[in-house]
Amino acid sequence: MSPDEMERFILSLGERPFRARQVAAWIYKKGVADFELMTDLSGAFRLLLSQNARVTPPAVTKVTTAADGTVKFLLGLADGQAVESVIIPDEERTTLCVSSQAGCALGCAFCMTGRLGRKRDLTAGEIVGQVLVAREYLGTRGGTLTNIVFMGMGEPLLNYDQVKQALTIILADRGLAFSWRHVTVSTAGIPEAIARLGADLLVNLAVSLNAPDDETRDRIMPINRKYPLDTLMAALRAYPLKRGRRITLEYVLLSGINDTDDHARALVKLVRGIPVKINLIPFNPFDGAPFSRPDDARVLGFQAILIDAHLNAIIRKSKGGRIAAACGQLAAAPHTVP
Ligand code: SAH
Ligand code: SF4
Repeated sequence: MSPDEMERFILSLGERPFRARQVAAWIYKKGVADFELMTDLSGAFRLLLSQNARVTPPAVTKVTTAADGTVKFLLGLADGQAVESVIIPDEERTTLCVSSQAGCALGCAFCMTGRLGRKRDLTAGEIVGQVLVAREYLGTRGGTLTNIVFMGMGEPLLNYDQVKQALTIILADRGLAFSWRHVTVSTAGIPEAIARLGADLLVNLAVSLNAPDDETRDRIMPINRKYPLDTLMAALRAYPLKRGRRITLEYVLLSGINDTDDHARALVKLVRGIPVKINLIPFNPFDGAPFSRPDDARVLGFQAILIDAHLNAIIRKSKGGRIAAACGQLAAAPHTVP
């Protein structure tokens, strides 16, 4: 529930608005899920709450830590599905990469989550629960979560309503109170949902572009056959951006597939006139993947063409690779991968 919904719900139980603010503070500020521990509420009200509501953060099944500071959570959901989320510490920020679905229907050829297929959508509670789990983990270790990216398992814009609800809670002052500047939704490119997102909420947008032409993109991202690049780029041109903000384009570099100088030049042309920053992500390999990572010289050569064209292009250092927590390696059920 968003803080506003919580207030309506608690009023419907016959309580006054400040009670709702207390409950929201316990859940969203202090991370307390058990009504019995909400000690400034009367016993009668706590009983009423426990009879009418539940707070069920996901169960942490496994925590894996890497030497580079990356922490991967395997979370068990009520129906036995599992998802992963990853804390990625950086110099000045600590980012949580959250999942929006168990598995993913879009089947991008380079992505391990895509191999699982789509199991189901996550609820807003399951998405927000990932943030609560990570915040608690960091809190007990003196850390602070500063950023949230919807770049874990699943396609957020194909679970639009629950993702929107989760964002509402994440951004609300009486919710998790993140600034929109620190929250990013990443999509494989669903034009009508990009338009909806732009109209509904203020957040940062990232798009997994991965190829500068339909022929290449069709081969690695089947969704491109449904929404080819002209429709996607039109949605990006129309996306409302605050002054000085940019759309992030993610570009996974796959050796010999999308990493030639010609691809880089085509990319320059494709994004002309759109305020973008480009994240180049050298492919993170996984067992049975039909691709390889380009060597460093090729990655730098690709980047140089973008920079020469005055584009903001950075090479994303890969983190968490040793614990299968890097981009595109989340699977949560390795035994299901062929
Ligand atoms: N479904 C959304 C959110 C997931 S983000 C989306 O695709 O945008 C996952 C990011 O990791 C995407 O940018 C994707 O292009 C990238 N990715 C997937 N598999 C990868 C791999 N094996 N190596 C590097 N990046 C990968
Ligand atoms: Fe799904 Fe994104 Fe992976 Fe493609 S890259 S399969 S859209 S999670």
